[in-house]
Amino acid sequence: MNPFKSLEVWFATGSQHLYGPETLEQVAADSQHIVDGLNVSGKLPVKIVFKPVLTTPDAIAQLCQEANATPSCIGLITWMHTFSPAKMWIAGLSVLRKPFVHLHTQFGRDIPWSTIDMDFMNLNQSAHGDREFGFIATRMRLARKVIVGHWADGEVQAELGVWMRVVAAWHDAQGLKIARIGDNMRQVAVTEGDKVEAQMRFGYAVNGYGLGDLVRHVDGATQKAVDDLAATYEREYAVAPELGRGGGRHESLRDAARIELGLRAFLEEGDFKAFTTTFENLYGLKQLPGIAVQRLMADGYGFGAEGDWKTAALVRAMKVMAAGLGGVSFMEDYTYHFAPGNEKVLGAHMLEICPSIAHGTPKVEIHPLGIGGKEDPVRLVFDTQPGPGLNASIIDMGGRFRLLVNTVDVILPDEPLPRLPVARTVWIPQPNLKVGAAAWILAGGAHHTGFTQVLTVEYLEDFAEIGGIEFVLIDKNTDLRTFKRDLRNNSVYYHLAQGV
Ligand code: MN
Repeated sequence: MNPFKSLEVWFATGSQHLYGPETLEQVAADSQHIVDGLNVSGKLPVKIVFKPVLTTPDAIAQLCQEANATPSCIGLITWMHTFSPAKMWIAGLSVLRKPFVHLHTQFGRDIPWSTIDMDFMNLNQSAHGDREFGFIATRMRLARKVIVGHWADGEVQAELGVWMRVVAAWHDAQGLKIARIGDNMRQVAVTEGDKVEAQMRFGYAVNGYGLGDLVRHVDGATQKAVDDLAATYEREYAVAPELGRGGGRHESLRDAARIELGLRAFLEEGDFKAFTTTFENLYGLKQLPGIAVQRLMADGYGFGAEGDWKTAALVRAMKVMAAGLGGVSFMEDYTYHFAPGNEKVLGAHMLEICPSIAHGTPKVEIHPLGIGGKEDPVRLVFDTQPGPGLNASIIDMGGRFRLLVNTVDVILPDEPLPRLPVARTVWIPQPNLKVGAAAWILAGGAHHTGFTQVLTVEYLEDFAEIGGIEFVLIDKNTDLRTFKRDLRNNSVYYHLAQGV
């Protein structure tokens, strides 16, 4: 999946007429130089397009309208090389519907101490020109990211790269179609929510489908396609002998392959990029989809189990952000290890963990599932590599969405898990299990999450900012007293900010 191909970010440089044509020509040349330098840096996933220097309210409004109307433009980089009186920006920023980042940079890195004169100062005013622009964006209460530093600096480019990946995920969510196959697990609360509000807020649409819609595609899979996919399983994974060709349960592997073919065809036909299933509604399917869901996630589909469409949408967004970097999976806090001084979490799901986070070659196994009342499902089983990671959860607070993130340290299991028949990962939540889990529960975080070892907190924070939703972080600095106060303050803020 390359979600960045054919996308672009526009580079908008602010100035004004006061400086005369010569200076404005220099401003344009400098901006073009920065754009070229950023594009060849190799650090940025999305191409930047230089736009003519902006010196009038009309030109600014027109650029913002064009950005809105250009499908390939996913956002704007704004920078004031000189002073740009910010009332000129009101009309444009009022109508701008694309996210923007404020790159607070300067053409030259250093002050040329021995030669600097007033001409140089007139040309290089971003230190205060960007403050004028910052004021109007804040006065208009506009969400944006502010990045400070010289544009050629590696850290600045990395921050810009993060923002681009997040904006690409936001762009992807606009008009995204999510299939909720078989509705919700009965009586479960956190997987429910306001789909209308979610569509207005995030741009994606969640619609329900009956199992018959899926089963028709499963039954339509040809023998040849099933043979080929079963052979692919044997080539790509360590398939248990009983499931392999000639094994006593090979037919179950073929059933699993048929489900994958049907599910894939269903998703492609409807142009869905994320989906949910529920084990309580499998009418017409022989098994709960296990390996099928796992492999579809690895191909970039968002997924949530038990009808969890919010997590499916979040996993999809995280997949776009992480494209080309590494793994993202649907995850669930499953079981605790409460040994004093050695507290940790075993994360897994009944089946559906994405092999993009696998360490080593996944095994293909078949085991009974004590729930759902179907035939034994085929699944990929694997461990996860140690290192830093995070869990993210999005919940509907009734009036607003809250994005909750907990940074974790993934570790190896204390011992092998020879009888555990599912993919798993073991982690210590920050700051520790006792505080981390208490904070998570107080914040109402779901048991379902999006898990990753390649995205940092910055990505999720940028995403929440663009979406205008609440962002809550549990990390190594979290203490419960402050955390509870922040939750209370947030409740008041969002109540007031959203008005009647
Ligand atoms: Mn679950």
